[in-house]
Amino acid sequence: MNIKYNGDELSSDDIKALDAQYVMQTYGRFDVVIDKGKGSTLYSPEGKEYIDFTSGIGVNSIGYGNMKWAEAIYNQAVNLQHISNLFYSLPYAELAEILIKRSGMDKVFFSNAGGEANEGMIKLARKYSFDKYGPGRSTIVSLKQSFHGRTITTLAATGQESFHNYFFPFTEGFKHVPANDVAALKVLLSKANAAPAQVDGSLALAPEQPAEGVCGVLIELIQGEGGVLPLDPDYVLAVAEICREMDLLLLIDEVQTGVGRTGTLFAYQQYGISPDVVSFAKGIAGGLPMGGILANKKCSAVLTAGTHATTFGGNPIAAAGAVQVLTQLDDDALSGVVKKGEYITGAIRGWHLPCITEVRGKGLMIGVSLAGIAPKDAAAECVGDGLLILTAGADALRLLPPLTISFEEIDKGLDILKGVLIRVSANEGLE
Ligand SMILES: *Cc1c(COP(=O)(O)O)cnc(C)c1O
Repeated sequence: MNIKYNGDELSSDDIKALDAQYVMQTYGRFDVVIDKGKGSTLYSPEGKEYIDFTSGIGVNSIGYGNMKWAEAIYNQAVNLQHISNLFYSLPYAELAEILIKRSGMDKVFFSNAGGEANEGMIKLARKYSFDKYGPGRSTIVSLKQSFHGRTITTLAATGQESFHNYFFPFTEGFKHVPANDVAALKVLLSKANAAPAQVDGSLALAPEQPAEGVCGVLIELIQGEGGVLPLDPDYVLAVAEICREMDLLLLIDEVQTGVGRTGTLFAYQQYGISPDVVSFAKGIAGGLPMGGILANKKCSAVLTAGTHATTFGGNPIAAAGAVQVLTQLDDDALSGVVKKGEYITGAIRGWHLPCITEVRGKGLMIGVSLAGIAPKDAAAECVGDGLLILTAGADALRLLPPLTISFEEIDKGLDILKGVLIRVSANEGLE
């Protein structure tokens, strides 16, 4: 049962000691070592059981011990693990076909992670504008409370002040507006982009013209790290319309919402919009590092040979895993995501606990706002009781279980969550 290391059996404490000694301490880890999993249940080296409401932050979309997925990546690994993008091979081409057919987009570019995918999306938007209008239109507008990654550029795109420390100077050319505020976006654009001058007859063109115009608007449809905050569907439609009128690219960051998480393959498919570029990552390969961007016909030829590349992008093993993920996430599985999401939100609302102020989200991306309890304290208590769970924003617990989680596992997890919230509320003297 225990992990063998240099012939010795290592306990959870031994593993934590190795981490403390040799790994940069950049993560505030929960006090748990995970050794293996089956379905949506995980086990420590000592055999303690945990229900997983995190899927490794939205990554392990088809759970643990998924044998078809494991066989697909094993078979690929023994044949060809990597060949570089200087040569052709089947797995990424097969994956590309599936993604394009199911998304309705035109072409895909593969990367390795979400931040890198968003970098590609930003480069694409800037080049689209440069090719068509020349220099002077390089700004990307994104939203307050957004999260787009940890690279210097995607941190600049991220609309949360707390991320804008230490690492100056950040990449130029990013502006943030409040979510769900069409007027604020229009004001910014009417100042930034001279022609077409006005998107709304009521807004006079501002006298001061910033040096750089806007080329794209970057949004998450449900802001994940920001607190599981869904955008207002009318706002999304208005943004799409403004982008169309002003020839700005509509850039949707689906790194967290994509790959079935909200009950459709991509969340934008529920908003009646046709994005120009969509990024994806987390859940795509079922636990292997992979990301990418999908572009529509208008801009799928913008990134030409030599303008964008990545060594590992489309890696055959990750691609073989992703093909399995998309095969298993068929229409039945996606409608299961919707049902499970409704079941979970219904159950939590039904507890009528005073410490819960809101349950929000879509599919299996669920935020539970707490009052009077720090989410990270509640999450740590849950972990102690055998439930892995995430936090988001200042006040929310976040649930991102594997999309294949069983109702039995959901019930076990919900029991633990309810027990913790009642206990912590009582300790805080809330009830
Ligand atoms: C996680 C996340 C990212 C960053 O992805 P990495 O793979 O960590 O680089 C970007 N955007 C959103 C919406 C995310 O949830």
